[in-house]
Amino acid sequence: MPYMDYVSGCPVDERVIEAMLPYFKHPGNPSSIHSVGLEARNAMEEARGKVASLINADSSEIVFTSGATESNNLAIIGYATRNKSKGKHIIVSAIEHISVINCAKFLQKNGFEVDYAPVDSYGKVKLDELENLVREDTILVSIQHANPEIGTIQDIEKIRDAIKDVTLHVDATASLGKIEVNVEKLGADMLTISSNDIYGPRGVGALYIRKGVRVNPVILGGGQERGLRGGTENVAAIVGFGRAAEITMEEWKSEAERLKKMRDRLIEGLLKIEDTFLNGHPTERLPNNASVRFSYIEGESIILSLDMEGIQASTGSACTSKTLQPSHVLMAIGLKHEEAHGSVVFSLGRWNKEEDVDYVLEKLPPIIERLRMMSPLYLK
Ligand code: PLP
Repeated sequence: MPYMDYVSGCPVDERVIEAMLPYFKHPGNPSSIHSVGLEARNAMEEARGKVASLINADSSEIVFTSGATESNNLAIIGYATRNKSKGKHIIVSAIEHISVINCAKFLQKNGFEVDYAPVDSYGKVKLDELENLVREDTILVSIQHANPEIGTIQDIEKIRDAIKDVTLHVDATASLGKIEVNVEKLGADMLTISSNDIYGPRGVGALYIRKGVRVNPVILGGGQERGLRGGTENVAAIVGFGRAAEITMEEWKSEAERLKKMRDRLIEGLLKIEDTFLNGHPTERLPNNASVRFSYIEGESIILSLDMEGIQASTGSACTSKTLQPSHVLMAIGLKHEEAHGSVVFSLGRWNKEEDVDYVLEKLPPIIERLRMMSPLYLK
């Protein structure tokens, strides 16, 4: 039964579970100075090295967090509050994850000015408009590497050039393990990543903070993570994240090729259904993302009908699907409300096989036809 909702959640790889198991029982607190504490600290530091290598960073530049949301909070709120004497203007793109948008809104309520960089109909940040938004007092720009909902990949190197020497935060949650994520090549000063997106456990992520970049902690406690994130570290989860990073490093390239072939066949088949359109960029997109919209019908009814056939997909960001508002991402690329509502995201991952694509392409057309026959918007 094809699970095609890897964007909402990924299974944890067996090899990762194996690496984590000893640390569930292990009592060591990495801050304790005795030998058992030291064992936990060593395991954690080994994991930090593996996570750092995956993105071409130094271990000392990695802060472990509870996930991408917290990393985004630390990057945006932590950086803005620490550097407000240099300026109080920040820029985020219009299609950022809600955790970035909500941090920007929080800052706006607390004396900062925020601009939202617009995107074109493929979801690419408009570079000239971004460049024009940069002011003397701009201290931070936050732009995602790739969008989980429409799959579009940003030209981060060009964005880096456009904003000159302003500090750049990149949310690489959706791109890690799918395309190359290299902090040096990207020119990122801070970069958000998350463990579950590379088949590690949930509840752990990291923020890369380039040496010399100063941020305030947003979780205050006993000075863990070099004073940037208080609270006893979740050693088992961090060890799992490290193992997941190691596996990703070895396998991502061949895996991306495999997924891309499946994705292309899936998109080709989906677009054969009449009045169906691709969301996002046709080529500069994540290798595992097929985001399409079906005219005249609602994404939610498609998802539920697919689920009855044993296929799981999503209508967009699982984190905001409760609001029933059309996705801000689809609105920002210029879709009308009714177009945005008919969108479905198929996101592929490590355990999908070619047969899964065949199964979806067999089951979906009759579902679309049945739902359209019931739709008052469908007048054919
Ligand atoms: N950033 C991006 C691009 C995401 O896709 C997500 C989640 O899907 C997040 C941040 C937040 O991740 P989490 O809910 O794991 O904290």
